[in-house]
Amino acid sequence: MNDCIFCKIASKEAPAEILFETERVITFLDINPINYGHTLIIPKEHYREFHEIPEEISKELIIVTSKLTKAILESLKPHGYNIFTNNGRFAGQAIMHCHFHIVPRFLNDGFKFRPHPKSYKQNEMKQYGDLIREKIKN
Ligand code: 5GP
Ligand code: ZN
Repeated sequence: MNDCIFCKIASKEAPAEILFETERVITFLDINPINYGHTLIIPKEHYREFHEIPEEISKELIIVTSKLTKAILESLKPHGYNIFTNNGRFAGQAIMHCHFHIVPRFLNDGFKFRPHPKSYKQNEMKQYGDLIREKIKN
């Protein structure tokens, strides 16, 4: 994807505050952070959404995310942290190159995820469980 800003960061054609990289993964600071130290972790190769990333690369993404989480905890000493990835326009994905966010969180930092508004009616939980379990592949 030639016009993808995250591809350009991965290939060093565009600047970024790079924190760490491996052969297939690179991490850098989010330019517009929820809190200072907000970090993005991406595969260097362009994949739009998480489910499209080959397993070997997603393993590397998770390992690097864990490594960066520990570095953020030791350096910035937040009270907590969120790790998330938005996939698809309706899930709030703005940059269509899959990425994980690590957001250090602090007491009263004002950032809020929406509360979970739904509950299951009788049997519904099992029905949803069955639907998903049927499609789990080895
Ligand atoms: P999304 O909504 O797609 O999950 O998040 C995209 C994130 O990328 C946002 O938090 C945004 O601030 C960040 N971002 C967008 N453009 C750039 C950029 O050019 N450089 C960096 N470092 N971060 C960016
Ligand atoms: Zn890209």
